[in-house]
Amino acid sequence: MSDTKLREHLRTELDKLKETGLYKRERLIESPQGSSIRVNGKEAVNFCANNYLGLANHPEIVQAAHDGLNEWGYGLSSVRFICGTQTPHRQLEQAIGKFFGKDDAILYISCFDANGGLFETILSEDDAILSDELNHASIIDGVRLCKAKRFRYKHNDMADLKAKLDEAKGSRFKLIFTDSVFSMDGDLARLPDICELADQNDAMVGIDDCHGTGHLGAGGRGAAEELGVLNRIDVITSTLGKTAGGAAGGFTAGSAELVDWLKNRSRPYLFSNSVPPSLVSAAAKALDVIGKSGDLRDKLKANTRRMRAGLEGIGLTIKPGPTPILPVMLGDAVIASSMADQLLGHGIYVIGFSFPVVPQGQARIRLQVSAAHTTEQIDRAIVAFKAVGQELGVVK
Ligand SMILES: *Cc1c(COP(=O)(O)O)cnc(C)c1O
Repeated sequence: MSDTKLREHLRTELDKLKETGLYKRERLIESPQGSSIRVNGKEAVNFCANNYLGLANHPEIVQAAHDGLNEWGYGLSSVRFICGTQTPHRQLEQAIGKFFGKDDAILYISCFDANGGLFETILSEDDAILSDELNHASIIDGVRLCKAKRFRYKHNDMADLKAKLDEAKGSRFKLIFTDSVFSMDGDLARLPDICELADQNDAMVGIDDCHGTGHLGAGGRGAAEELGVLNRIDVITSTLGKTAGGAAGGFTAGSAELVDWLKNRSRPYLFSNSVPPSLVSAAAKALDVIGKSGDLRDKLKANTRRMRAGLEGIGLTIKPGPTPILPVMLGDAVIASSMADQLLGHGIYVIGFSFPVVPQGQARIRLQVSAAHTTEQIDRAIVAFKAVGQELGVVK
């Protein structure tokens, strides 16, 4: 074996992670996903899934997955363009396009792949990509693969975006690309202002709507619908693995030409396997359910208001924002992680986030509220935050 040196090196690096508190230990969930889960043999209320409408394990969606499996089989053993496209794949793409008011959409195995396969496929040396500094890792990696000039603007800072657009003058195509919801902070991109700047500077606008699709906007069409600019967004990437049933799958929605080009040239699409039929059927059902889920979106808003008011009421600081992501700001990494550990003892499952996932000194517990939470579960969380907070001296 010639890997001895690498293994020694990795052991040293792993020890360093453990010493600095940055080593990730995965907790084992002993039940299906839901508002209540089993961890360490005990029930806990789950406040860290992206299960905003509670559709993970929704009975109609699970049934649709079974139906897809029965009718269309387990897998295609092929990429899409060879022999991996079944009728339901095309139907789902067209349904996604229509859902967002775009011409069409292209499916990927994940949104990570959708972002990885977007930028280099449409932009070259002559072009410019303008990207928010807090964009998701998959956008950063996608942009890295692309030869366009890169401009990273300060988070949601329109003066800086304007300055970068000035610098990018003369580029053939200019694409502003941003997370529509920033998942660590729960704030929205300033899309109306971004669209305005784009119009003034002959630029296109693209968003990654992973934390918006399904639960934001009156019809669940995401952050752009919420902010009234859906028809001004040129490209939308998003996931089927969060609100839309929670399994896996991603897509890019946009013009007919864009989708056609991506199907011809996008590498994670051309060189990776077709999305399994069970997922495709379930995702189509999830879109239907989302369309009819106005009551769940209202419930999610009410739950979020109750949780925010309750936590602020006991003296905790929550970042402001209109989404069901509530960052409880604690500052200190050790406090954030011990608070999360102790909350689990009270039957409340949350995770502490610290550097490098969030800036140094801004450690936090990120709560994700779901429409599936009961009032009783939310109140139980607030009581537990108070008890643990007092013990740690962060609330009076
Ligand atoms: C979750 C997430 C992704 C990745 O989506 P997958 O479908 O799980 O690959 C990409 N972008 C953002 C902003 C996300 O939150």
